[in-house]
Amino acid sequence: MSRLPSIQFRWPSFLTGTVTSSWDDGTVHDRRMVQLFREYGFKGSFYLCSDRFCDREDGDSRCISSEEVRTLYKGFEVGSHTVTHPRLWTLPPEVIFSEMVHDRQALEAIAGEIVTGFVFPFGRGESGDAMLPLAKRAGFLYARRSSPAKVQEPPADFFNWDTSCHCGSELAEQWEFFKTRREPDRLFNIWGHSYEFEETWGWQHIEDFLRDAARQDGLWFATHRQVYDYITAWRGVLWSLDLGRAHNPSATPVFFTFNGREIRLLPGESMDF
Ligand SMILES: [Zn+2]
Repeated sequence: MSRLPSIQFRWPSFLTGTVTSSWDDGTVHDRRMVQLFREYGFKGSFYLCSDRFCDREDGDSRCISSEEVRTLYKGFEVGSHTVTHPRLWTLPPEVIFSEMVHDRQALEAIAGEIVTGFVFPFGRGESGDAMLPLAKRAGFLYARRSSPAKVQEPPADFFNWDTSCHCGSELAEQWEFFKTRREPDRLFNIWGHSYEFEETWGWQHIEDFLRDAARQDGLWFATHRQVYDYITAWRGVLWSLDLGRAHNPSATPVFFTFNGREIRLLPGESMDF
């Protein structure tokens, strides 16, 4: 039997790393943060609670209005964070499921897009794993965790999507570490809340990071959905048993190296090696 070929993952267009971020609760401080993101070409996914918009009956005045969602987050991603932001693990499954599915449905109408991402309010609690089948049944494709796991690569399981760091005090150190890494699948995934820059860390904290990130060569700034779509397309490439033929059945071009040669496999394309 001949030697196995060396097949290595690459990010789109052979970029050398990806940076993604997620921001919870949809407060009015998202306005300033989104403006900074646009200035530096950064991307974020925004996880929202549909009963908390300030124009809702029992809404929260610290939150944006539902009417702002489409324009404010245009070019970014809207994800679900439940209807009312409860401690889900204290509730029966029917209530948990309703919190997920009704938020998704409401946000889809508000944002005018299909909502595929979910974040557990207050993290997942002790009974977290029991909630994953409910999130899957509600139609989500990935669920981010809030634990500071210091992970700098794509998750094996998108329903256990850990982050690289919180946006606060650990950001600078984790970012410096990321910049030294050479793994072709390196992924930096930040989470937090925009109000933290207003109340705790200061806006300079995030702007310094954004400026430095924009200066780095070869990075892809992507939403969670874009990362999910790309990794899923890569993992969905069909290979013959002798690894001599590959077929990309997805709608996304995938990039990799085959024995050191850079390969771009277009949607629907097959290739012999
Ligand atoms: Zn939250």
